[in-house]
Amino acid sequence: MKNILVIYTGGTIGMVKDSITGALKPFDMHKIYEVLPVLKKIDCNIETYQCNPIIDSSDMNADKWLLFASLIRDNYAKYDGFVILHGTDTMSYTASALSFLLKNLSKPVIITGSQLPLGMIRTDGRDNIISAVEIAANNEIVIPEVCIFFDNKLYRGNRTTKINAEYFEAFYSGNLPSLAKVGINISYKKHLILPPPEEEFFVYDKLCRDVIIMKIHPAISKEYLDAVSNIPNLKGIVMETYGSGNAPTKDFFLQGIKRMIDKGVMIMNVTQCKAGSVEMGHYQASCDLRDMGVISGKDITTEAALAKMMFVLGNFDDRNKQKELAESNLRGEIS
Ligand code: ASP
Repeated sequence: MKNILVIYTGGTIGMVKDSITGALKPFDMHKIYEVLPVLKKIDCNIETYQCNPIIDSSDMNADKWLLFASLIRDNYAKYDGFVILHGTDTMSYTASALSFLLKNLSKPVIITGSQLPLGMIRTDGRDNIISAVEIAANNEIVIPEVCIFFDNKLYRGNRTTKINAEYFEAFYSGNLPSLAKVGINISYKKHLILPPPEEEFFVYDKLCRDVIIMKIHPAISKEYLDAVSNIPNLKGIVMETYGSGNAPTKDFFLQGIKRMIDKGVMIMNVTQCKAGSVEMGHYQASCDLRDMGVISGKDITTEAALAKMMFVLGNFDDRNKQKELAESNLRGEIS
């Protein structure tokens, strides 16, 4: 029988009704079987870990990602799979960060949450947890990846984006189909799942914090770029451009970008579109960026690009190595 560790970090999913006041409050993870007795019927041993404090995922940060990664490292030998309960707001960022921090993963790490609290009648949390645990405990198909399970679909975590704050279909993976779909059966698309690693599991313990996301928009000004370039210690920018990687061609913009590259800031070009890829050089509007040394994020999501940059700049010192890694497919995050 498989051993699964369920880690509760916070978010909407963990809210249940106070039996006296009727108000929603965070549940005690150790009472998970009281809240969801059906979990006992899944053929696995479940143990639980509750983070302290539990948080709304809007308070997620690099320290917490390193903590989750070390928690998995310390429990890796003891468990066959991990399920992380997490708020939906930053779930794609966390999934991306963990995918980079956990190298040569051979066990499933399935992150899930819900749009409606577990304590509400129509909650999606119930089905999300049940299927996430079933997938993590599957004896035949072992998923060696950090995934998000949501609304009956299993996604590669570092390919996802939260796209809906209202409906249960909250996540989207525009450049990679889901890895599995849950219906009467769980149907896995084996050809999309990463192969098991050939080398030993390794957990990184550093992330660079000096990075930002800069969204290109029609009102962008010289003052805006000056303000960005004056951020102390800035080391990396994920630059969200239009379409296939296009940005303004005006001098103030190109000079601003060049100034930052000359200062040693890594700039990665990602698209604002929810699907498709950056192709620098396809239009004149991206040729200059390419020639200046802006890195192509290809079809990476903004969330994965930020996490990748924090990982690469935090763990490697050599500039050429950083660039090589930033442009390579490390964990299935680009096609
Ligand atoms: N604000 C919540 C969170 O991300 C939303 C959710 O869980 O869906 O923690």
